[in-house]
Amino acid sequence: MTIKHHLTDDLLMSYAAGTLSEAFSLAVATHISLCDECRAALGAYEAMGGAILDSDLDGGDDLAPMSDDALARAMARLDLPAPIAAPKKPKHPVLPAPLQDYVGTDLSVIKWRKLGMGVRQAILPTKGKGSARLLHIPAGQAVPDHGHRGMELTLVLKGAFRDEAQQFARGDIEIATEADEHTPVAMGDEDCICLAVTDAPLRFNALIPRLMQPIFRI
Ligand code: ZN
Ligand code: ZN
Repeated sequence: MTIKHHLTDDLLMSYAAGTLSEAFSLAVATHISLCDECRAALGAYEAMGGAILDSDLDGGDDLAPMSDDALARAMARLDLPAPIAAPKKPKHPVLPAPLQDYVGTDLSVIKWRKLGMGVRQAILPTKGKGSARLLHIPAGQAVPDHGHRGMELTLVLKGAFRDEAQQFARGDIEIATEADEHTPVAMGDEDCICLAVTDAPLRFNALIPRLMQPIFRI
């Protein structure tokens, strides 16, 4: 499996610092569980964070006072997410380990809700800012044309989707921001399952999806 679309350095650094919301942490952890490249980059950021922290606690030299917030930051580091590989979970062809905490390993028991045009969603229970959901898009079907009021991460778990000229397959993550408007389409003859995370409601152009937004919490 070759992953072509990766996390940004910003997201990796925020994850290493433990400042992402649960929904975004889930998307980052899920991508990292599939992507050697981003896992290596995260390791480097965590090591860098540790080195900076160590030098803060030493105060650099004996005369320099410890910075006021060094202890607070040291305490905050204790709350960092556990290393991804820590609890060994069974390998699943669709659901990577971080997602198994939310939906288990049996795709057939996921409670899908219709979003219209054959697209279905299952909202995941995450706390704090942002929301996370699994999307099930039938082969050849498009997600209704929409824009974004914040950031949206869409990680492919099964099948693939096309967005303009770009293609996204298992492990690939698409990062959309307020500047982006798109109509992702499930490619080929396989249904596409994605993990989608947003920190603000989407902007739908068609009336029906717009009316349904409060119900779908999308
Ligand atoms: Zn990656
Ligand atoms: Zn989008």
